Amino acid sequence: MEWLDPDDAEYDAARRVWNAMHDRRPARIARCHETADVVAALRFARTAGLEISVRGGGHNVAGTALADGAVMIDLSPMRQVTVDPRRRVAYAQGGCLLADLDTATAAHGLVCPTGIISQTGLGGLALGGGYGWLSRRWGLTCDHILAAEVVLADGSVVMASPDSHPELLWALRGGGGNFGVVTRFTLRLREATRVTCRTGVWDLDRAPDALEAYRTFTGKLSPDLHVGGGFKVAGAYPGRDGWLPDRLRGRTVLSLTAVWFGPPEQAADAVAPLHEAVPPAATTGRVTTHVELQTMGDHERPAGNRYYTKSTYLDDLTAPVVEECLATARGIPSPLSSVQLEFLRGAVADIPEEDSAFPGRSAPYIYTVSSQWTDPASDRTHIDWTRDAVARLAPYSHGGAYVNYLQDEPHGKVAEVYGAARLARLAAVKATYDPDNVFHLNQNIPPAAA
Ligand code: FAD
Repeated sequence: MEWLDPDDAEYDAARRVWNAMHDRRPARIARCHETADVVAALRFARTAGLEISVRGGGHNVAGTALADGAVMIDLSPMRQVTVDPRRRVAYAQGGCLLADLDTATAAHGLVCPTGIISQTGLGGLALGGGYGWLSRRWGLTCDHILAAEVVLADGSVVMASPDSHPELLWALRGGGGNFGVVTRFTLRLREATRVTCRTGVWDLDRAPDALEAYRTFTGKLSPDLHVGGGFKVAGAYPGRDGWLPDRLRGRTVLSLTAVWFGPPEQAADAVAPLHEAVPPAATTGRVTTHVELQTMGDHERPAGNRYYTKSTYLDDLTAPVVEECLATARGIPSPLSSVQLEFLRGAVADIPEEDSAFPGRSAPYIYTVSSQWTDPASDRTHIDWTRDAVARLAPYSHGGAYVNYLQDEPHGKVAEVYGAARLARLAAVKATYDPDNVFHLNQNIPPAAA
């Protein structure tokens, strides 16, 4: 274990998280290398009466890994993954990034469905849900947690599995970091296939027709196909997207990427109806590996910029919804910001609600407005644009939101996300495993009253 205090040379680098909006100063940082370090750090903080924050990959947009005056339990040295190919299981330490898991599993032709940016932490992503390209095929990352080693609030270490602490395992599948520090995940793996990607971009005036075609298309989508994207400024990242025609560069466009996990020779037929209905202004495509797919978007979300995100689930992509999305897109205040739309369902919806704490499986679409900029002086502009974009869609919301995309939310948002029955069950688990709410620097679920 290494302790970093404010006067240590490495302290400033260690307290940095992905979103530069969060510039906070923990009292101490505990760089943990093994489970015993986590136990020691937790005991120290509790004895000293200090708050505790937990850092996995440091990617949470709300910056919950970091708090002024707290002890930060930093899991970033704990990134080891081992794979049992025969059982199709991976054992991943709690500080892994998605890239660590992807690389280790790919060596065996296997994959765990996770998120779409390889630098995201597995810990926060898996505990809150975990949407990605493979969700429609296999479900969420939390659906793949078979067991977890957890350091509890009293410093004890337990294994949550179907046979031991099953209620804790249920809560870890979607309830976030409320119940303890996960030092090791046991994850179910799937067979990795070749991946075919096809991206189409449309001028804004063609976007309503293209989204109507998308809506029709998603109505009969194979689980082997995931199509998502949204509005963004074309060619915003220098040296990238060489396939884009010059006339589109610097303009806001609708961009939809189809990712096909079936046989590559069937990909063209699978995507054709979308592109034939409303031909894109430009397209690109390739057959690639899962590992490459997972890193394709990394350059669009660099660490150290300023970020603000709001998200909601949508029932449908009706004409008024599209009109509101377009109004938002036309006012995009930064070339780095984007409006994302994704059709979910498939395995996400097929997995029984009661198997996990994760809420919102029935939502057809997720809509996420992601602001990114660099100048602190313009914070207000970007935050207001993001809030307004999601507020306009309130009348069309499916209800709820994805807990991992929550930022600064009004009181009661977490309760809304989980719904009364699920929240009551989570609060009961919390009362069993963390009755003093030691783990409260997160999207907090307070313990049920005794
Ligand atoms: P951190 O900031 O390290 O931690 C956030 C919280 O998670 C902590 O406060 C703690 O409560 C908890 N936590 C983390 N690790 C542990 C652990 N081992 N034990 C206990 N608690 C822990 N989500 C998706 O579903 N799909 C995506 O494709 C996706 N893409 C993203 C891309 C980017 C660029 C970003 C910034 C986020 C993305 N997310 C995505 C959201 C992501 O799931 C959350 O931001 C998540 O919280 C990140 O996890 P982390 O470990 O990096 O977070």
